[in-house]
Amino acid sequence: MKFMMWTASMLAAAIASGAAADPPLAKPNDRSGLYDAKTQTTNDLRRLPVAPGTNVPKTNIFITNARLFDGTGVPVRAVDLLIQGDKLVRVGEPGGEPPEGAEVIDARGRTVMPGLIDLHTHLTYVHAFGLPAPLSEESQAGAAIRGAERLRYYAESGITSVRDVASHGMAPFLLKEEVASGAIPGPRIFAAGQLIVGEGGHGTEYYALSTAPGYAEAAVREASGPDEWRAAVRANFKSGADLIKLASHFNQEEVDAAVDEAHRLGLRVTVDSETIYTRMAVDAGVDSIEHPLPRSAETVTLMAKKGIASVPTFVPYQYINSGGGYNGSTSRRFTISDERMFALGAEMKAAGVKLGVGTDVTLDGHHYLPEVYVQELRNFRRLGYSASQALVAATLTNAEILGMDDRLGTLQPGKLADLIIVDGKPDQDIEDLKKVDLVIVGGRIIVRDGRAILPPRIEEKAPFTSAK
Ligand SMILES: [Zn+2]
Repeated sequence: MKFMMWTASMLAAAIASGAAADPPLAKPNDRSGLYDAKTQTTNDLRRLPVAPGTNVPKTNIFITNARLFDGTGVPVRAVDLLIQGDKLVRVGEPGGEPPEGAEVIDARGRTVMPGLIDLHTHLTYVHAFGLPAPLSEESQAGAAIRGAERLRYYAESGITSVRDVASHGMAPFLLKEEVASGAIPGPRIFAAGQLIVGEGGHGTEYYALSTAPGYAEAAVREASGPDEWRAAVRANFKSGADLIKLASHFNQEEVDAAVDEAHRLGLRVTVDSETIYTRMAVDAGVDSIEHPLPRSAETVTLMAKKGIASVPTFVPYQYINSGGGYNGSTSRRFTISDERMFALGAEMKAAGVKLGVGTDVTLDGHHYLPEVYVQELRNFRRLGYSASQALVAATLTNAEILGMDDRLGTLQPGKLADLIIVDGKPDQDIEDLKKVDLVIVGGRIIVRDGRAILPPRIEEKAPFTSAK
């Protein structure tokens, strides 16, 4: 079959009818203007059109006697909820009748709320830093196995989405697919792929493996010059990236090129940087900045003005400080006290910078969950957030920073059924978040009685057996 060629007259007719006009993108990842209202798309940042009903579970769950914290600012109230397929379809007055065939879950005395989001994870990072790292540990194969083991810790902590901001090779994308298909219980994964840094930049000092361009196994990719930064963005895009993660060091031309390339591809950009590098990233128009690292008051003001969010990740720096500080890193030649980073957090909050929640646990830090996640919310409390405001940061604000707030972050009919049942009132006392009973992601129950469960066994009749 030959492909139809556009002739000049066809093109002119198309332009006249408006068909050839490029729909504008309001912001990176906002693909909404491109689709017919009926188009179904993947539930990730790429929004790929998919056939209707693709990978939707046959869920029919009725939750009764729920004490609902829906994340919208509406006061907690008693409701029944109905989940069908991958969506929350009804939030109604309590005492309603469950539909035919529904699994009924009695939430009496417990709180139903949107699933938590962790904006800063590394699902595949090695068990221990320090040279030489065993090469087997750094392979994509080892990375995928580590990631598969770690997912349950996030799930059992009530975390229903993670933004993975650097992992080895293709491992995070394959983990994402297995979770999305329901084969492995875990949170929804939004993956950046390889971290892009300048030669000798942050992250490169911890790896024995090559981080050279094109080396597929590593979690970090070095790039030099604007062309290599663009190429690195495209390489991650090719792997299936939901977003792009950059880290200092870079020069202005390099960060400008990477941000321009990512935004043209419809991908958001987040940056791990400090001081003058944060200023360069802000000037380049990135979407968010990771960590509570030093930056000028002028940069904070610019972040607020340009709508650039912050994911402060106080908790890993409290951990670093508890061990005596950031020592021996060739790319991080400064110290930052707890006092200084909380002062920065307060300054950003006062300036109106949107603050998101991420834990950045590395090595085997997932063993500290859910404590580390709750600790980060305690850190938000320290900035003056109420318990319920901290929960909104962990759910709706995080969904906004991801670019997924049209589908995640609150419990409203039509949104994806990512929710948790907590034995307590976390909107009054965030410590109750350590008592997560049940977790549903995309309509699939993945945690019951606080423990991850294997997905239902698939029973199929083999086509080759003969009748007895
Ligand atoms: Zn990190």
